[in-house]
Amino acid sequence: MAVALNRLMRSAAVAAVAYSPVSRSLSTLEKKTDVIFPASLAHMGSPARRDPGSRNVQWVFLGCPGVGKGTYASRLSQLIGVPHIATGDLVREELASSGPLAKELNEIVNQGKLVSDEIIISLLSKRLENAEAKGESGFILDGFPRTIRQAEILEEVTDIDLVINLKLREDILLAKCLGRRICSKCGGNFNVASIDIKGENGRPGIYMAPLLPPEQCASKLVTRSDDTEKVVKERLRVYHDQSQPVEEFYRSRGKLLEFDLPGGIPESWPKLLQALNLEDPDGKRSAAA
Ligand code: ADP
Repeated sequence: MAVALNRLMRSAAVAAVAYSPVSRSLSTLEKKTDVIFPASLAHMGSPARRDPGSRNVQWVFLGCPGVGKGTYASRLSQLIGVPHIATGDLVREELASSGPLAKELNEIVNQGKLVSDEIIISLLSKRLENAEAKGESGFILDGFPRTIRQAEILEEVTDIDLVINLKLREDILLAKCLGRRICSKCGGNFNVASIDIKGENGRPGIYMAPLLPPEQCASKLVTRSDDTEKVVKERLRVYHDQSQPVEEFYRSRGKLLEFDLPGGIPESWPKLLQALNLEDPDGKRSAAA
């Protein structure tokens, strides 16, 4: 009864926002309330405090530019078997396609500003429709929502089970963005920055080894056009201004899991899995640099 009532209320909320063109385009999102957690989550008690049910997880990654949202969201998506949807990637695909939006997007992205909610939601809903057509369900969103309005729209159309807020010292974020490299052939993400900050005044030190490319990618590395010092500083400012309030949005709804990265991937991945009550069955990913 309570579940049925919940569904009824939820569909009323969806109907109410369906008049907004932005919200309507997100209507392909899964609206059911029951969640299928991976076996390891189900038996250990899920971090989202949801009962096992009938759909895949719907998680969100928040965090400043350079914190590693893409890295950890992509690893988790492979582990759990749900699509990793990064709105930054959708924007870059649109830029590369030289479609009608490319010129406008290029300017916005290279100034470190946010793309309009309308554009980002239209790109996201196209991606979700493709996922649905391929029979995929559930998702790990990376880079969305980034404004309170985006969070409110998402909240109206679907249930987000858990929001993971990745955190790293501010002085490291810039170095991580500037060290970012992408293989122009295979699309692999690497990082040439070597972070080794000694602990002081009771603050722990932090070590993050570079994530170097294999030999076949080394000569094909490119840098994102928005990973310059000036643009990264502006992206950090925009994050604090427009995206940080999204943390409080989810904190107040009891959905936020705060995760301070203790170091690079070898230290952080096992701890993140622990925080999520997940196990990496073959342990392969935890061993990778
Ligand atoms: P970051 O490394 O800053 O987290 P992303 O790869 O997620 O970068 O995004 C790159 C750019 O794409 C952003 O600076 C912004 O211009 C645009 N973008 C991505 N996601 C959103 C969003 N949800 N809302 C508005 N703009 C976005």
